[in-house]
Amino acid sequence: MELANRVKALTPSTTLAITAKANALKAEGHNVIGLGAGEPDFNTPDHIIEAAYRAMKEGHTKYTASGGLLSLKHAISQKFKEDQNLDYSPAEIVVGTGAKQSLYTLFQVLLNDGDEVIIPTPYWVSYPEQVKLAGGVPVYVEGKEENAFKITPSQLEQAVNNKTKAIIINSPSNPTGSLYSEDELKQLGEVCLKHNILIVSDEIYEKLIYGGASHTSIAQLSPELKGQTIIINGVSKSHSMTGWRIGYAAGNSAIIKAMTNLDSHSTSNPTTISQYAAIAAYEGTQEPVEEMRKAFESRLDTVYEKLIKIPGFTCVKPKGAFYLFPNVKEAVKLTGFETVDEWVSALLEEEKVALVPGSGFGSPDNVRLSYATSQEKFEEALERIERFMKNNS
Ligand code: PLP
Repeated sequence: MELANRVKALTPSTTLAITAKANALKAEGHNVIGLGAGEPDFNTPDHIIEAAYRAMKEGHTKYTASGGLLSLKHAISQKFKEDQNLDYSPAEIVVGTGAKQSLYTLFQVLLNDGDEVIIPTPYWVSYPEQVKLAGGVPVYVEGKEENAFKITPSQLEQAVNNKTKAIIINSPSNPTGSLYSEDELKQLGEVCLKHNILIVSDEIYEKLIYGGASHTSIAQLSPELKGQTIIINGVSKSHSMTGWRIGYAAGNSAIIKAMTNLDSHSTSNPTTISQYAAIAAYEGTQEPVEEMRKAFESRLDTVYEKLIKIPGFTCVKPKGAFYLFPNVKEAVKLTGFETVDEWVSALLEEEKVALVPGSGFGSPDNVRLSYATSQEKFEEALERIERFMKNNS
């Protein structure tokens, strides 16, 4: 059976090949250390699990309204007010099956064939594919390593043309952990306002910020920017709830209404039980969120210092999320490999350490290591990488 053109155009995930290989090695009994995880390694806090259990016992096991429970929208609205002093009414919020699905629906309602979306590199792997699935064209703008992987207003200005519909800003970023300052966002925002570009602000790592830095949403900077922005967020990373699949979009009510209509024909509603869990996540204590953040920060500080001592590794110190994104071009050269992909493959083969090659994030000289794993495991992985470097030099 011939498949549709739209799926033929999808780029196969570079992480899939490495994950499949890592799993095959594990199945053979090898002690593989995987640093590919995109999720916190903590359990979902107990009070959230209890709330889900209670919801089921109380009979909340049926469909809900398509865009999510009104009570959850109120909880999200309250979160926006408390954390960012932003006002969003329930009509300006749509709850989805994870931030990923919220983004997917957003591009579906936003883009016509040929509409361009500016995607700064390095990018989260799903952005380009989601844009293409909606008929859009990704336009890549390089966030240069010397600028902590962030794009500048003049780079943005150069990428804009009359087909530009939107830009994605992901701060803090997966895979780099870079964080845009208020001033940087202000300058990018001016370009977006000037050219009437919609800003898709993916704030899923908002709660994971280190080194005393703070998160600013571009929507906080002026009423005009708020009107021009759709915020994407969710509970996956902040409350260690990746498997519950709750994310949301907030912004212009006409866009939100279109997303709700589309969802009503695809997912119907995000899982009812998870919605009750998300209410507890936002309305209950936020102590576990801060505890997890602190744990990530302490791991980052330790493993970063060790990582940059490996020959041929340089790394911009991340300000958020839970990834390190070192440039390993020199390390690849030192070990006689042609590409980072080959080097990553050999590392897995010889030392059983699974990293994600940067090519999948639009940055072929880098690799991504997730420290959402125990510190002991991460440190052992670094020792194995050092041994690999010695054995191949
Ligand atoms: N955005 C970014 C940058 C991510 O890294 C992820 C998950 O890895 C998501 C969105 C999606 O999160 P979820 O669908 O679990 O809410």
